[in-house]
Amino acid sequence: MVLVPQHLLVNNLDAVEQRLGRDESAELFRDAGRRSAWHWCAHESARLGLSGAAIVRHYLDRLSRRGWGRFEIDALDPSRGELSVRVRHSALLPVDGSDRSVDRACYLFEAWFEGALQYTSGRSGTVPVRETRCGVNADECLFTSDGPGRCHDNQRRP
Ligand SMILES: [Zn+2]
Repeated sequence: MVLVPQHLLVNNLDAVEQRLGRDESAELFRDAGRRSAWHWCAHESARLGLSGAAIVRHYLDRLSRRGWGRFEIDALDPSRGELSVRVRHSALLPVDGSDRSVDRACYLFEAWFEGALQYTSGRSGTVPVRETRCGVNADECLFTSDGPGRCHDNQRRP
């Protein structure tokens, strides 16, 4: 575990986005984020004997406790690829003194949720998750899966 100041994290993301653009930055981090979430869930599942929705709930609880934001689940059915999560106080939002100017600032979480859903569903493919509303322009962020049952099997397993 490494503690990182929020401004360091956000400024590093900003530097990557300035160089590559938001969409390329999101793609750059997507595989690593997905893979990391998958392995975290696998480790915790083996350690605690959790499975299904319980491991996703445990994952989001840990993210909240570790300061990434306050994650609240509105809908979750891993077997159908269904997920809706609201995040308040995201650690990825621009901080004072930051020039970060993206419309959806918290896209790293998309891949993390995809990895957790993929692990718990047991599918080889990924259900895409998108930040459909961000705290940059609203009170909280909202992440939803593309829809129950939709799965991109052309994406490789982490
Ligand atoms: Zn956001």
